[in-house]
Amino acid sequence: MEYEPVIGLEVHVQLSTKSKMFCSCGADYQSAEPNTRVCPICLALPGVLPVVNRVAVESAIKIGLALNCKIAEITKFDRKNYPYPDLMKGYQISQFDVPICYDGWMTVQPEGEPEIRIGITRVHMEEDVARLLHIESANGNSRHTLMDINRAGVPLMEVVSEPDIQSPAQAEAYILKLQSIIRYLGVGTASMEEGSFRVDANVSVRPRGSDELRERVEVKNMNRVRAVVRALEYEIDRQPGVWDSGGRVALETRGWDDVAGVTVVQRSKEEAHDYRYFPEPDIPPLEIGRAWVEEIRSSLPEFADERRARFKNEYGLGEYDASLLTASRATADYFEAVVVARELSDGDRAAFAKEAANWVNGELARLLNAPEGPSRIDQTRIKPEQLAALVALFQARTISNANARQVLEEMWSSGADPDTVVEERGLLKVSGADELLPVIREAIHNNPKAVDDFIGGKETAVRFLVGQVMKATRGRADAGVAAELLTQSLEEVKAAR
Ligand code: ADP
Ligand code: MG
Ligand code: ZN
Repeated sequence: MEYEPVIGLEVHVQLSTKSKMFCSCGADYQSAEPNTRVCPICLALPGVLPVVNRVAVESAIKIGLALNCKIAEITKFDRKNYPYPDLMKGYQISQFDVPICYDGWMTVQPEGEPEIRIGITRVHMEEDVARLLHIESANGNSRHTLMDINRAGVPLMEVVSEPDIQSPAQAEAYILKLQSIIRYLGVGTASMEEGSFRVDANVSVRPRGSDELRERVEVKNMNRVRAVVRALEYEIDRQPGVWDSGGRVALETRGWDDVAGVTVVQRSKEEAHDYRYFPEPDIPPLEIGRAWVEEIRSSLPEFADERRARFKNEYGLGEYDASLLTASRATADYFEAVVVARELSDGDRAAFAKEAANWVNGELARLLNAPEGPSRIDQTRIKPEQLAALVALFQARTISNANARQVLEEMWSSGADPDTVVEERGLLKVSGADELLPVIREAIHNNPKAVDDFIGGKETAVRFLVGQVMKATRGRADAGVAAELLTQSLEEVKAAR
């Protein structure tokens, strides 16, 4: 029998709010010493009262609106009860039957495939649990577990998709787009490696073309997008054999073993918890005013997909450049600031934008990737107007390629204006015959062998002599003009012999 995969993703997104979900402790749990971001509320001492973080609610609404969800008029919190060492209070404050956002969708388009729409079931708010660190002694004889309560109470959004995803490639595209949306909104870091974006993948298979939903497994423990893809591929490969041999796929939670490349059973759903949800008695229902929702809607940024399309249309950029530039909102903002820094006509703007894209994606990216100096484009000392000025100098062929790169490096370390650097270092390109001819005569005088070669018919000798002229002018000569003048002079020498 032929099978097709059915996939639904549950993603936990940690928010980078200042304070935690229900108390005023700092939410930056990773930058602090363990167990220093703690108070009676997130420590769950008796008699405390949680208070909802307004920014977290606003972030949830932003995510919901970005995912085309409806926003509940009244929402509420519920207690999800279960015992686990990382949950001191024995319950997690979450949302059960009335999530803040529901009924949305997102389009994704894996490379070379048609665009599809994936339903978003819900986005709900909850709090993170404490972090457990399992330590094993060097000789493996003793094992113990440390607990860091800093993370307990950090706001967490769960984004649940409909089982509309039909392939690992679509799942990957969904994850990348959701990460991009979270980062463009600036509400979280959305890093799988850092644990601020945790994906649980539900996957089943069914006879191709049917619309039944068969038993699924839920795969956890994947800390890279690549791991999700591999885990899904593994299950899509494994499950058909179970059905074909007359068995049933067991409804269970499996963990991904990245080294062995397999999923392993963690627990069956038979042993699944009964969470005994009930309304959180300490938090009154939240009324989400429509005016607030509309205000948030109008503040949403232009997301990567639209921006990429606009960069292609408005600036005539290619897919590759536009994708690189919109990979982060900061890069896209920076690039756009470079382009608008010059008031240009439509035609000139496209040529300028293409050149600006080359500098942002090329030399500037190289400097940002280097170990020294800032690694974020919004932290570089080079202001967009300054890069625009450099690009204009380069485009007008006022300075050579190699010298423009040097100027950029100087701008990078000192924050100086390109004009100042060019002037101080005397880097203005030399293209006038009065200045170039003496240098050319000298090159001809000093390199009789090359001259003989030229006269003997070896035209590449010109290139060697241009090199000598460049050297003598410390890279300032206009290579094209120098080559022209050299050829003329050599022809004269030839004629005179
Ligand atoms: P639970 O609360 O047990 O996690 P849900 O009904 O909320 O179960 O579903 C969780 C996720 O599983 C959703 O993303 C949903 O799309 C997905 N899902 C549900 N049924 C299937 C199925 N048969 N195959 C694959 N994914 C599924
Ligand atoms: Mg689940
Ligand atoms: Zn606290």
